[in-house]
Amino acid sequence: MIAKRTEKIKPFLVMEILEKAYQMEKKGESVIHLEVGEPDFETPKVIKEAVFDALKAGKTNYTPSLGDLELRESICRYYLRKYRVVLSPEQIIITSGTSPALLLLFAALLNPQEEVIISDPHYACYPNFIEFMQGKVVKIPVYEEDGFQYRLEKIKKSLSFQTKAILINSPSNPTGTVLSAEKMRSIASYKHYIISDEIYHGLVYEGEEHSILEFTDKAFVLNGFSKLYAMTGLRLGYLIAPQEFIRPMQKIQQNLFISANSVIQRAGIVALEKAEPDVHHMKKIYNKRRKYMINRLKKLGFDIKVEPTGAFYVFVKTTHLDKDSYRLAFDILEKAKVGVTPGIDFGQNGEGYLRFSYANSIDNIIEGLNRIEKYISFYY
Ligand code: PMP
Repeated sequence: MIAKRTEKIKPFLVMEILEKAYQMEKKGESVIHLEVGEPDFETPKVIKEAVFDALKAGKTNYTPSLGDLELRESICRYYLRKYRVVLSPEQIIITSGTSPALLLLFAALLNPQEEVIISDPHYACYPNFIEFMQGKVVKIPVYEEDGFQYRLEKIKKSLSFQTKAILINSPSNPTGTVLSAEKMRSIASYKHYIISDEIYHGLVYEGEEHSILEFTDKAFVLNGFSKLYAMTGLRLGYLIAPQEFIRPMQKIQQNLFISANSVIQRAGIVALEKAEPDVHHMKKIYNKRRKYMINRLKKLGFDIKVEPTGAFYVFVKTTHLDKDSYRLAFDILEKAKVGVTPGIDFGQNGEGYLRFSYANSIDNIIEGLNRIEKYISFYY
């Protein structure tokens, strides 16, 4: 009865933890959420006001399928300011979040069985997008001692006639680590397309991040407003692509989505042009929490070899507690009443790890880690 393609889509385990946590909260239990992958901040005031202004101004029609031209121009200015990269609005397509941009990208890029190289661990949804578009996922293990960065010789070994693209995600979900410029330059020198998910750009606390477009034009950049501007529910993202892909993607967008939300696109312009002080403020707070969380986890006996410097995650080895991250995450939820994400959610090579998110207040992070300290001393 039900179409076969639905069978291959795996559930997003963090959602299962979250749902269980909600059930516990419904029963009156207090749960600390260190599993969530979304900012705890409210959307900055200037952006919210821009939403109201756009509504009041009656900006409620479809926009062009590629997106509001002013927003695309604003993205060009942003990439010029931040990375010294010259873009044209004709290379950009606006979507309702980065997720639809991933769909458009793989729909336009992949013939059946063509391969995309991704790291393991990786953002949980990548393989599902690729396989949904009949592509083949080739996973390359990345290791904590390398800061979860690709080993180039492993990429080389994994290349085949079917390889279409290599995907990078820096800062990374789930590891919070940032790719070095040298590594990006080396990856960009392959003749294959590079897909760069830059959604956590701007949330880098030491050193600086680079766009793949600084190194090659043969690249697709995914980006969005969910994380940096605390706009997850407003749904706004974009894709920067080589010119020849835009028309095919535009046709898919016209048919599948028509356009992204008009009002939110207006707010996106304001985010890029006026929300820098808000971003700066949020970033300072994330960084304080990051330092606290890393130090506290180390004190609790967790071995963190390379400290994460981006996004809002710490990916921690937990095999000394339990080799099965799924079982451990549920046990911590039930007994310590703290939500954490099992590493297995992010691939086989993420097994034995838990992802802790610091997208929560410092008070909640302290309380969550106090509870975990008690849990460890009682049960281990
Ligand atoms: N890429 C990565 C690495 C993410 O972590 C997320 C959100 N969890 C997305 C893409 C999708 O984000 P959105 O659709 O909200 O823009």
